[in-house]
Amino acid sequence: MLTDIQIARAAQKRPINEIAELLGLTPQQVLPYGHDKAKITHEAVAGLAGRPEGRLVLVTAINPTPAGEGKTTTTVGLGDALNRIGKRATVCIREASLGPNFGMKGGAAGGGRAQIVPMEEMNLHFTGDFHAITSAHNLLAAMIDNHVYWGNALNIDTRRISWRRVMDMNDRALRDVVLGLGGPSNGFTRQSGFDITVASEVMAILCLARDLDDLQERLGRIVVAQDFERNPITARDLQADGAMTVLLKDALQPNLVQTLENNPALVHGGPFANIAHGCNSVIATRAALRLSDYVVTEAGFGADLGAEKFLNIKCRLAGLAPSAVVLVATVRALKMNGGIAKSELAAENVRAVTQGCANMGRHIENIRSFGLPVVVAVNHFAGDTEAEIAALQDYCAAHGVKAILARHWAEGGAGAEDLARAVVAMAEGGTADFRTLYPDEMPLWQKIETIATRIYRAGRVEAAAGIREQLAAWEAAGHGRMPVCIAKTQYSFSTDPEARGAPEGHVIPVREVRLNAGAGFVVAICGQIMTMPGLPRHPAAEVIGLDEAGNIEGLF
Ligand code: ADP
Ligand code: MG
Repeated sequence: MLTDIQIARAAQKRPINEIAELLGLTPQQVLPYGHDKAKITHEAVAGLAGRPEGRLVLVTAINPTPAGEGKTTTTVGLGDALNRIGKRATVCIREASLGPNFGMKGGAAGGGRAQIVPMEEMNLHFTGDFHAITSAHNLLAAMIDNHVYWGNALNIDTRRISWRRVMDMNDRALRDVVLGLGGPSNGFTRQSGFDITVASEVMAILCLARDLDDLQERLGRIVVAQDFERNPITARDLQADGAMTVLLKDALQPNLVQTLENNPALVHGGPFANIAHGCNSVIATRAALRLSDYVVTEAGFGADLGAEKFLNIKCRLAGLAPSAVVLVATVRALKMNGGIAKSELAAENVRAVTQGCANMGRHIENIRSFGLPVVVAVNHFAGDTEAEIAALQDYCAAHGVKAILARHWAEGGAGAEDLARAVVAMAEGGTADFRTLYPDEMPLWQKIETIATRIYRAGRVEAAAGIREQLAAWEAAGHGRMPVCIAKTQYSFSTDPEARGAPEGHVIPVREVRLNAGAGFVVAICGQIMTMPGLPRHPAAEVIGLDEAGNIEGLF
């Protein structure tokens, strides 16, 4: 069997200008980055304003397990299938972070016959967007310490600098560091640390900004520290917003690539969904909607994290409304949610599938509570048995949901045509009546409680000392209308990654809250969750290298 990278390498790619042409874009409206990647220019994006928009389809999933669900694979396969049945569809997904690429094996371009190409580049440096984000973030960090060094005119309390540094790498040694060692010429010594780039507020801002002006506005609003009277110090106070915008100018333009079947894909931005809001840029989604009949997009991890944030944060802030939702499930992942260990997945186990369906059922209910129609995509794996698939479909039938077997991983778009037809029927049936889970005016603490009880089905929310006072202070300062972005484990509805299935009545502990005034949301960190991951004992990096022909080996 061919690996993802072997399939991707054999792709019959079309020149990127031809893909642009499919979208009705002229060569002047795209900036080629080599032969198979391009950015859509700011001017071209701005020129789309006022055009009618196509239908937005969200792909999400049950809670992830090491067994794999295949959201990106399904997003790409569905996009290709929609094109096959005569709809002009564009796929919109996130860019890849180097951290997971060199850590646990697994790319971000899909898999099998449903991939985005060039996959190696998309998974590595691509068009340099993440490097630009890292640079813009760290420029602000450097300007803070520099300001203090040159006399601290803003009276920054160096004990209360919240802006850390970032790097796009899993490096646990940098989580907590001491800066400014080595004497007076190196500044003032203070404790700080690094987060992974995909957790940076600059990443979230790039993904939510409407245009360059909005980008600079938002960058200026970033709160980096407090002064000795506890007043917020912003990036604008440090006059960093202009230079940061300059560094991000090119990165804000969405990247155009193609699927294995030569359909357009916009790959742009990439906040993680467990520690950030988890979806590609608003600019890319908007542009795609104005250039196509259908846009298929993915939100990271399970529907409890990814879809909730996509709907309550991205759609709310950008005024988007999906027409249909696809919930990806696999027999293997349901078995794991039903209590089976990864080592026992090969054996048929109908009982475990049925037990695991509770997890899927919870997500279905949650999606419906947003007023959205949902279909289950059963991403078919070679080892799935007929009895297991039947158990899954029976459960869905009993809950009034279609479950459609999809074979896009093995067959490309042709394997997902049934799914595409079901999606079109839902989207064009006009049953979607999207509403967010909570109104803007709800107090911040109550927003956290609403997500915890309605989506996670927690019994109650517990807060560490001072958290509710902090939220009240932000409300008093005018930030109360923001949505809340929960940072939490992706493996469970609870904060315990081992609690698979459909736990309820658990306690959600809020450990810390952070104000992302530029992005426009408040982050609530619940349970143990890292904003700088580490590498596993044997990172994927150990087996990645070049072969004699200069091809990349070991990257999936
Ligand atoms: P997600 O987006 O949910 O994280 P991906 O779509 O990136 O998942 O898929 C993760 C991995 O699983 C990829 O390497 C992909 O090739 C593999 N995969 C996905 N679907 C299947 C399938 N039906 N059969 C075998 N492998 C699959
Ligand atoms: Mg994915």
